[in-house]
Parts: sequence; structure tokens; C-alpha cells
Amino acid sequence: MAGITFENYNNGAKGRMIKEIERLKKERCAVILAHNYQRPEVQDIADYVGDSLELSQLAARLPNKVIVFCGVHFMAESAAILSPDKTILLPEKYAGCPMADMVNAEDLKAKKKEIPDAAVVCYVNSSAEVKAESDICCTSSNAVKVVETIDSDKILFIPDRNLARYVASKVSNKEIIPWEGYCVTHERVTLDDLNKAKAAHPRAVVVVHPECRVDVVEAADHVASTSGIMKFVRESDSEEFIIGTEMGIMHRLTRDNPTKRIYILSTGMVCPNMKMTTLDKVLTALQDMKWQITVDEELRTRAYGSLKKMLEV
Ligand code: SF4
Repeated sequence: MAGITFENYNNGAKGRMIKEIERLKKERCAVILAHNYQRPEVQDIADYVGDSLELSQLAARLPNKVIVFCGVHFMAESAAILSPDKTILLPEKYAGCPMADMVNAEDLKAKKKEIPDAAVVCYVNSSAEVKAESDICCTSSNAVKVVETIDSDKILFIPDRNLARYVASKVSNKEIIPWEGYCVTHERVTLDDLNKAKAAHPRAVVVVHPECRVDVVEAADHVASTSGIMKFVRESDSEEFIIGTEMGIMHRLTRDNPTKRIYILSTGMVCPNMKMTTLDKVLTALQDMKWQITVDEELRTRAYGSLKKMLEV
């Protein structure tokens, strides 16, 4: 008779945890949303996997009153801004975003005084207080369109300098002033990493996220948001891809495209904040209904204004 191995024991414990999550989810009428960068096992228990805005909009549309948002703080906050009548839970309360933390409302107010004629376009990777101080929000997939549409020739683009520069390369008739923020995970990847990956897989199409450094973006064959990357790989006739974004995306990409060969641009593309959410934290969130993310109503209304303007675009 086979003995109980450590692996069997672990698999059994994981199976029980998943069953309990499923049971509690029904009991609480909850839905689990997971960002594309979450751990594979967290993506697997989620009802929906997607990018931050997609998930926040879903949270607002779905009938469930309890939303377990497996992502980082600003994402759960965006869901709370769009769905003030729902309970938004972030399973790991310390899961933040270093890029979102690179701008705060006070510094933004000071900058606005320096350049009063600039409109503020704010990437959704930002706090509610920063969104509230901005004219309009954008995502990585609609940033170019938002900037093109806005009625101002001068744009202060916050907080991602790389996305700002990517937008500037596409919109020539506006002055774009980038805030000096960046995503530590995407910034880590260099042109040298890209050249090495291309040398290892010369036939692969290189697809990167616009949060990457400018020289990496310029050297790529295609630039897209996480959802855009998923779509591009799915619809492309190519068989090999090098992907320049956070490693978590590989889980769905490889599963949904089993006949294609897909490589990560660099194994350093890991966001530690995204990996803080684990199955046991999802279970605790549902058991104890924590950590609830709320936004003060006055602040929420102002932040909602910037998100709403973007959704209208
Ligand atoms: S991948 Fe970058 S932008 Fe996304 S949460 Fe992590 S640090 Fe923030």
C-alpha cells in the first residue's frame, strides 16, 4: 500500500481548501475575480480572469454583492469606486502597487499648479485620491485614444513614464509631460534581455506591454495590454511568441493556445505584490469577510468622474 507522501498530503489539503472556497462562495453569493498576473492556482479558482478595468466593470455588472478581488489594492479600489453598493474584498491587504504609490494627491496638486494649462490623464494604476485629482483615466489599451480625444494640447500623464512615452510616440500633435513613475517589474527588463530572447527564438514574434522601457517597446513587433496580448496570440498565424509582461499571464496563454510555443521575455518578470495572494488568503477572505476595501463617498464621486469620462471615450 502506498504511504502518504508529502505531495499527496499537500494535494489533499489543497483540494479541501478549494472545496471550502467553493462552499463559502455559494454561501456568501460571492464571485472571485483574478488579475492575469495572479498565481496559477488563484486564477484556476476564479470565476473570471482578466485585466484590472475589465474586472472592475464586471464587478459592477455581476449580480453578486460580494466581490473577492485577487489583485492589488488600486484594482479593488477601482471596483469599489464603480460598485459602491457592493462588498469588495482584497484577500491580501498588503498587496499594493509600487507604481501607483509613485504619485500622491499632494504632489499632483503641486504639479498642476506648475502647469495649470495641462490636462491630467491618469493611468488606472493609481489610487482613488489621485484619480479624483485627474481629468480623465485611461488603461494601457485605450491610453492613445483617451489622449487623442481629450480637448487639450498639453497633457500631464501620470504615473507611468513608459506608457506616457509610448502614447507620445503615437500622438504627435500634443505635448505629453510624463510623471516619473514606472512599474518595477516591467522596468527590470532590458533591451539586452530582449535581444537574448530573440537570439534563442529567432522565429518568435515579440509582444510586450507598454509599461516596458521605451527601447524594449521600440524593439518589439507588437505592443499591447494584457488583454491585447491574449487576443494577439490567439488570433495570430504565428506559432512562436516572446511575451514581455508579468509572468502570470503565461498560465492562460499557454493553456488557451496549446499548439503555440510561448516564451516569457525574462524570468525576472515577476510582480511580488501580485503573488502575495494565495489560496489560503482567498479562503480567509471569504471566511472572515476581510479585507474590505471602501472609498470615502466624496472622494469616490470625484474618482468616479475620471473613470466615467474614460468609459464614455
Ligand atoms: S505588475 Fe507593475 S503595475 Fe502591476 S501591480 Fe505589479 S508593480 Fe504594479
